Amino acid sequence: MGATLASPLTELAGVGPALATKLERLGLFRVEDLLFLLPMRYEDRTQLVRLGAMQLGQRCLVTGEVQLAETVYRGRRNLLVRISDGTGQATLRFFHFSKQQQAQFRPGVHVTCFGEVRKGPVGLEMVHPEYRILRDNQDPAVNDSLTAIYPATEGVQQGRLRRLTDQALQCMRRSPPTELLPAVIRQELDLPELAEAIEYLHRPPADADTAAIVAGRHPCQVRLAFEELLAHYLSLRNLRALAQNQRAAALTGGDDEVRAFVSSLPFTLTGAQQRVVGELLADMGEPHPMMRLVQGDVGSGKTVVAAIACLKAIGSGQQAAVMAPTELLAEQHWRNFCDWLQPLGIQPAWLSGSQKAAERRASLAAIADGSAGLAVGTHALFQEGVQFRNLALVVIDEQHRFGVQQRLALREKGIAGSDYPHQLVMTATPIPRTLAMAAYADLDTSIIDELPPGRQPVQTVALPETRRDEVIDRVRSACESGQQAYWVCPLIEESDVLDFEAAEVSYEMLSRALPDIRVGLVHGRMRPAEKELGMRAFKDGTIQLLVATTVIEVGVDVPNASLMIIENAERMGLSQLHQLRGRVGRGAAQSHCVLLYKPPLGQRSRSRLAVLRDTNDGFVVAQRDLELRGPGELLGTRQTGLPDYRIADLGRDAHLMPQVQKAAETIRRDAPDIGPAIVRRWLGDAGRYGKV
Ligand code: ADP
Ligand code: MG
Repeated sequence: MGATLASPLTELAGVGPALATKLERLGLFRVEDLLFLLPMRYEDRTQLVRLGAMQLGQRCLVTGEVQLAETVYRGRRNLLVRISDGTGQATLRFFHFSKQQQAQFRPGVHVTCFGEVRKGPVGLEMVHPEYRILRDNQDPAVNDSLTAIYPATEGVQQGRLRRLTDQALQCMRRSPPTELLPAVIRQELDLPELAEAIEYLHRPPADADTAAIVAGRHPCQVRLAFEELLAHYLSLRNLRALAQNQRAAALTGGDDEVRAFVSSLPFTLTGAQQRVVGELLADMGEPHPMMRLVQGDVGSGKTVVAAIACLKAIGSGQQAAVMAPTELLAEQHWRNFCDWLQPLGIQPAWLSGSQKAAERRASLAAIADGSAGLAVGTHALFQEGVQFRNLALVVIDEQHRFGVQQRLALREKGIAGSDYPHQLVMTATPIPRTLAMAAYADLDTSIIDELPPGRQPVQTVALPETRRDEVIDRVRSACESGQQAYWVCPLIEESDVLDFEAAEVSYEMLSRALPDIRVGLVHGRMRPAEKELGMRAFKDGTIQLLVATTVIEVGVDVPNASLMIIENAERMGLSQLHQLRGRVGRGAAQSHCVLLYKPPLGQRSRSRLAVLRDTNDGFVVAQRDLELRGPGELLGTRQTGLPDYRIADLGRDAHLMPQVQKAAETIRRDAPDIGPAIVRRWLGDAGRYGKV
């Protein structure tokens, strides 16, 4: 067999065109790709576990002598087989079985089974174990390596994947893949060689440190995760280096406009805002596109910083665009920018997916002929048919809702002639430093690490929902004293499946319980105009209590609101809760946040809610959030804009990022040819970020 790692999969035995198509759908094209399809877990069939030593939840291989087999009716017919090995007993339970199967389990027969140990009505049992009847004195065969279980792959069976990876491993042994990590880096981190790591992970020997492998912390796994993180990091850094060679309009005008605007504000900028503005304006004065991330906790005042950057562009005779992830947030920005910029003679254009045709046409025309110096909207800003006259700055708010790919697509779309737009992305979801390294390596970072003066930290308590009446009393007295409150519910309609409190039900309930309070409702299924109406009424005080779904999560700004109740808090992510809580504490009054939970609360949920009680610092919340999640539970790509990894798991591997960064620097300096090869191995040609 002459297949090599570079051969198409069809050169492997047993792979015809039909199977090749299925494998392609899994992203597998060449033999080498199979090496990187790592098992997601392993089964230990290398040793027999005594029946008396079985642990609940363990998946293990056991053997024993049949004592008794009987069928019982428990709603449906069950076949129960009691086995014993002298150290203990176990029950095998079958729901589906044939007459023949039933007849096999004669008392005295020896059987070996593999399955998960569960608690049954009488002692431990295995439900539908894999089993084999042993002939007289036959040994229950054990495997000599752990059994690899590959990720569930539609239409391709485990056995088949195992045979295919066997062949790929043979190819690898004949001619190993190029070791791309420089020896100095491997030695420093004590990482095994690539081929060794791959071999080990596909076919771990019987004496493997199973616990380390299952936890994903075996050096062989670390080795591969490290290289993958490095590939993504290098690719993003490439992009950044590339930007330094691209052209952009150097924005040198606008100083008068910026000055006029800053002095028109009813407050002075904080030191942190001034510093970040300085960083932005310096970048935008360069003839290369700025790629900068502004991180700042909720309420730190990012919007005004963005407005200054926009004015710089407009004052330089160019256009700026501000994009937000939701209609509600985009609308709010639009109103803010109108209030701020109209006095300076600038009329922003509004663009959204749901707007009326005539209005849209007018906006498009103003954007195209440049009479609108600023366009504000949702992602509709960058759809087909939107032509800017000379777009020089793109601001993306709440970046965590958009991924790397979207960020890049926007850059490409914004190109006017040979000039790229400057890009400013803003996020209020502070993510730990190590994650930021992975997600935003293509960006320079500025941090607004100071809140406007006079803000008092929001006081947070967690209460069981059995104390709802007390909480309602609290809402009443807050509203009666002239303050406003939010009541946040996760979903909008009664859902049996999830048992969430429904906003509509809460709205009815609160309206009845608080007849003298003006209660409003805003949820995700309302039309934007309706939502807008509700929010406006809340903002101008017509509504005192706003019942809402998490649509208000980002950006909504009502300084008079000083109380927030969040239902089912135990089911929400910590960063999301922190973000929601940031809607209060924006005015001078002491604000409170009540996290209602459904008891009983598990240990982990308790610790999670305690984090919010103990700190108001978004960075601390994010760090604790990361620590309190297990591997595999990390904030999905959708939430954070993090890349999709094949092997690395940032919940587990984020701590590698400083070393990844260091390795990337070493490679870029000492071995620049290696970088592209690493990127190609892990991201392929198509998957690379940008046209590198
Ligand atoms: P975020 O960073 O969460 O987007 P916003 O930009 O919405 O925060 O600002 C929150 C509130 O703080 C707004 O009402 C804004 O006008 C106000 N604000 C911004 N900067 C200052 C400042 N330097 N002093 C006082 N208030 C400020
Ligand atoms: Mg904001």
